[in-house]
Amino acid sequence: MNFGLQISLLVAAVLIIGFACWRLTGGHRKRRTRKRHYAGKEALKQRRGMFRRRDHGAHVARRHGHERSPQWRRVQKEHLRREPACVACGYKGRKLQVHHIRPFHLHPQLELDPHNLITLCQARGKNHHLLLGHLDQWESYNEHVREDARRFYRKTAAQIQADSGWQKKVLRRP
Ligand SMILES: [Zn+2]
Ligand SMILES: [Zn+2]
Repeated sequence: MNFGLQISLLVAAVLIIGFACWRLTGGHRKRRTRKRHYAGKEALKQRRGMFRRRDHGAHVARRHGHERSPQWRRVQKEHLRREPACVACGYKGRKLQVHHIRPFHLHPQLELDPHNLITLCQARGKNHHLLLGHLDQWESYNEHVREDARRFYRKTAAQIQADSGWQKKVLRRP
């Protein structure tokens, strides 16, 4: 056997042993589990997002010096059991919001009153919460939102915004 062949055999052997060790120690597996770990974290974040609703009312109320009642989460859940879909389109999902017909920052005593609540969606392309509940401005409100939800039933955001009756309402919004 010549010296060159011996060297190549040695290099091949080292490579094979090295690869075997890497498989045995689980180097390849470690990388895969790390990936799965990240995927798990993302899924967890998404799952948590399902229970986290954007609370525009709370932001406005805080600016007016009011904090959400500790009872709010419970009252909100109870309301969603009674009215589980957007009143303006029937949407069910994580973009649902429980809206105060008379705003919480002006009527804090009505915060937990079930008669003051309505389910509206903030789904893409519909925005029924903002357009019908708040007449396109979070600080504003619409006392006739139940009526309007029937009037604009299943209308898209673009259709609502194009409606002259709605536009007049926006000009006169409180
Ligand atoms: Zn609202
Ligand atoms: Zn809707």
